[in-house]
Amino acid sequence: MIGISFRHTTMAARKRIALVAHDHCKAFLLDWAERQKTRLAEHQLVATGTTGLLLSKRLGLPVESMISGPLGGDQQLGAQIAEQKVDLLVFFWDPFEPQPHDPDIKALLRVAAVWNIPVACNECSADYLISSPLMNQPHEHRIPDYAAYLAGRE
Ligand code: PGA
Repeated sequence: MIGISFRHTTMAARKRIALVAHDHCKAFLLDWAERQKTRLAEHQLVATGTTGLLLSKRLGLPVESMISGPLGGDQQLGAQIAEQKVDLLVFFWDPFEPQPHDPDIKALLRVAAVWNIPVACNECSADYLISSPLMNQPHEHRIPDYAAYLAGRE
């Protein structure tokens, strides 16, 4: 295994939240987001294509949309996590249906674990996350130390 060391970094008080829902879960995400609209409005929102379109219509809030998940939107969000441009992932993935882009879904969840960001995969965990006092505070957390990693590879 490649040795990874870690360093601390601080998430800003205003978070950038990525939202994704598979088709059978979109209604749950939209209902949740409407219920939590006041809290979501305090943060920046980014989403995969269809999820973003539906969210911006339902909430009337700005949502930066990537392309649709099966066309690469999950990978776009994963790249932003690796670049530390996403602080939190709300991803209502469908536990009952295989998806054509299953490898991308696995990759998105993996990269979220690598970069130690909070992830909610269902409505209940999304409620717990969004109501955390940490949502509106700077939060120090541990991330891979890439400079140290490169130095170790010389
Ligand atoms: P969508 O993508 O928001 O474009 O439907 C979600 C996904 O299937 O990953």
